[in-house]
Amino acid sequence: MDIRELYQEVILDHNRRPRNFRVPERTTCKAEGYNPLCGDKITVYLQIEGDLIQDVGFQGTGCAISKASASLMTDALKGKSLEQANALFTQFHDLVTAPAASSVSADALGKLAVLAGVREYPMRVKCASLAWHTMRAAMTNTHVVSTE
Ligand code: ZN
Repeated sequence: MDIRELYQEVILDHNRRPRNFRVPERTTCKAEGYNPLCGDKITVYLQIEGDLIQDVGFQGTGCAISKASASLMTDALKGKSLEQANALFTQFHDLVTAPAASSVSADALGKLAVLAGVREYPMRVKCASLAWHTMRAAMTNTHVVSTE
């Protein structure tokens, strides 16, 4: 199986069976994100206690990339500190916006690296980053409409 097919498989799996597709019982903050280019709409819920993301979930509708990205993100963020979450945001953002030819340093990103393929499809970058921008907005309880 070539690496692209594997990546594709992970994305399809998370689209079919999104992880943490629910509202955490003790949500402390949330935000809604909307990607008008594709029509993706998601709400990200965070349960933050002290400096830790104790729980995270999401709801919404969108394309496979936006859903898989949100699913992978929620898995990656659970139990992380706010500082770690911000660092991950930056790493993910770099991953999906880097020039398509550049190599990916996927080590720190783990499974999230499967989304590196969107770099070749500029329209899809917004789909992949929507959940992340929404998560950051939730942290500060602000609303995002469009993502860059
Ligand atoms: Zn989309």
